[in-house]
Amino acid sequence: MSENDAVAGLRQVRESISRAASDYGREPSSITLVAVSKTFPAEAIEPVLAAGQRVFGENYVQGAKAKWLGLRERYPDVELHMIGPLQSNKAREAVELFDAIHTLDRPSLAEALAKEMAKQGKRPRLFVQVNTGEEPQKGGVTPTEVDAFLEACRTKYGLTVEGLMCIPPAEDPPSPHFALLNTIAQSHGLKVLSMGMSADFDAAIQLGATHVRVGSAIFGARSLQPKV
Ligand SMILES: *Cc1c(COP(=O)(O)O)cnc(C)c1O
Repeated sequence: MSENDAVAGLRQVRESISRAASDYGREPSSITLVAVSKTFPAEAIEPVLAAGQRVFGENYVQGAKAKWLGLRERYPDVELHMIGPLQSNKAREAVELFDAIHTLDRPSLAEALAKEMAKQGKRPRLFVQVNTGEEPQKGGVTPTEVDAFLEACRTKYGLTVEGLMCIPPAEDPPSPHFALLNTIAQSHGLKVLSMGMSADFDAAIQLGATHVRVGSAIFGARSLQPKV
């Protein structure tokens, strides 16, 4: 994809979000587009920044750092969201770099993040990832574990969790997973829901998404180089 294609993709995705919002009786401003720029180099991201997009998602601490340190000097109001699995030994860099972390999913990570947040005096917004499809290879707490984990985050680690995130199984229709995440969030008084990607953000908006994570519909297909 050329640079102009990414800007055109951005415009189309924004239009689709607005349309979905009005179809489902939601305020467009209640839905944040997280433009997933993982695997794409700074040169591919720059036009999308120039077109006004400010919220971006990345899935590797290392790759994100390399790209965004420079881009952030020119666009200081950028908001970076961590959407990939996070190792506890990357907590320091993650707290330094990210404004939001969507993949909090275990006590050891909660502990590491809490320690770094206290040390750095910085509080990225936190989302707990829920493994709604209970897939063994996927991160996230299972729906039945959410209760205890949220409680531990609050009382044991002093963390404020703002919302929930899910990635439905690739082979399932996504809507039941989005509905489940919404139900779990409501039962905990959480109003922030990170769900929906390029193929299914419309359904996610219908079911209450406040953050949609959209990559390929903006930047085009990703090649198979995972760690950039
Ligand atoms: C890559 C990724 C996305 C974006 O996926 P697209 O299908 O390209 O929109 C969203 N969420 C997570 C967690 C991802 O890893």
